[in-house]
Amino acid sequence: MSAHYAVIGNPVLHSKSPLIHALFAQETAQNIVYDRVEAALDGFAACVQQLQQNGMVGANVTVPFKAQAFALADTLTDRARQAGAVNTLKFTSVGIEGDNTDGIGLVTDIRQNLDFELTQKRILILGAGGAARGVIQPLLASQPGMLVIANRSEQRAYALKQQFQPYGIVEACRYSQLAGMQFDLIINATSASLSDQLPPLPQGCFAPNSLAYDMMYGKGDTPFLSFALRQGAARCADGLGMLVEQAAAAFYFWRRVHPATAPVIAALRAMA
Ligand code: NDP
Repeated sequence: MSAHYAVIGNPVLHSKSPLIHALFAQETAQNIVYDRVEAALDGFAACVQQLQQNGMVGANVTVPFKAQAFALADTLTDRARQAGAVNTLKFTSVGIEGDNTDGIGLVTDIRQNLDFELTQKRILILGAGGAARGVIQPLLASQPGMLVIANRSEQRAYALKQQFQPYGIVEACRYSQLAGMQFDLIINATSASLSDQLPPLPQGCFAPNSLAYDMMYGKGDTPFLSFALRQGAARCADGLGMLVEQAAAAFYFWRRVHPATAPVIAALRAMA
């Protein structure tokens, strides 16, 4: 019998997760079925309970339910606890296990797929929402030379700095305070690209040989990536690789099988 999974979100129609997991399952000969489930905005816990009763064995969780999934899980992996958010659930006979694979997805994409070494690099994260929170600890674990968080509402950046200080040297600031600083890697973890906006990053922040990374995917050259190229960034990447790598880590969490990600990234790019 097939093991049944789904991605739960609202909205969820746009999600590429069913396609990604179908490709992983085909490639690794795993017998799974993977659906999309739209939960009511006030009905996430009831939806999960229903899916468990129907025999589902795991789920991915996307916007806006990652914090609720964190609260609902009976046990958490270390990385989910540190992120304060859950994007992967495993339903077992003893309860719900929660994991967060966004951070490892980003780090794997940058290090392995883009062949960009993080150790000793000056890293800037734009944004202080759920996506930023999920990637800070895995980035700090790569021992960067510097990690700075800049956010429009600066208090949110300072709150993240405080939370993650135990894991490494992390600074927080307003965008205007970045003037005169240079970074080897700038990650756009804001949702500005969703509305074709550019975070208010000052001129001159991209160091020679720098990488500009936009977590957004499927929108071509976002205003951030276009700005980065004009500012002299050597390379640009969107978040498609992160999406596939976080899915691969979730697949491993459930199935204990590592799928190859390169063919899946290539297949998704070919469809774009
Ligand atoms: P949140 O809503 O939690 O946070 C949004 C962040 O963006 C906040 O820091 C907000 O600042 C900032 N922001 C929004 N608009 C602007 C703007 N015009 N200028 C400057 N800052 C702005 O969203 P998430 O953290 O969940 O998601 C962020 C992005 O990451 C999304 O585009 C999402 O698609 C992407 N993502 C990609 C993944 C992948 O696998 N590739 C995985 C997860 C997320 P403020 O605090 O001041 O409001």
